Amino acid sequence: MLHVLDHPLASHIVTHLRDRTTKPATFRTLTYQLSLMLAIDATRDLPTEPKDVETPLEPVTGRVLTHQPIVVVAILRSGVGMVQPFVDVFPDVSVGYVGLERDHATAIARSYYVKLPPLAGRRVLVVDPMLATGGSAAQALDVVKREGAENPKLVCIIAAPEGVAEIAERHPEVGVHVAVLDRALNARKYILPGLGDFGDRLYGT
Ligand code: URA
Repeated sequence: MLHVLDHPLASHIVTHLRDRTTKPATFRTLTYQLSLMLAIDATRDLPTEPKDVETPLEPVTGRVLTHQPIVVVAILRSGVGMVQPFVDVFPDVSVGYVGLERDHATAIARSYYVKLPPLAGRRVLVVDPMLATGGSAAQALDVVKREGAENPKLVCIIAAPEGVAEIAERHPEVGVHVAVLDRALNARKYILPGLGDFGDRLYGT
């Protein structure tokens, strides 16, 4: 269920995100661009229906999105950086938040905030830029499923093999869309080569 973006523009953006000299303002712009590519990739199976329109030259039957609202669920805090492109391109989108904080010593996720719109019958996309151990993402998927999400997907920028394996074990049916699959985690559970702490890079903390 792993989908890796296979596009030269994605590689270009990821390389600039990794670069330690990239400043937060540029980092945010690159995150927006890459998240837009991921948003499009992760929704390629959205249902459509026929619609008749007239071009200036002749009638044509095109296709439009079937009305199925999308919910983007951002894992706080880094996931917030991926939300805007979904809001910009999809009609009827709503946004939920799951606050999970990684304990820097144990690397175990703790939930401190959940605010979700209705999820049943909607297309649910959980966004979190770094899929490291997979603990936070798996926990967020537990939360959205408990709240009614039927076929949620997970959308990340960089994944470690360990995180992908964790999701495959705990949520085997969940599609995981990533821009790149990295090598491994280090002893402190950071992704290698990765890009460091995504939240810190995004917000300049
Ligand atoms: N979260 C991050 O921000 N970076 C990592 O490498 C792993 C988790």
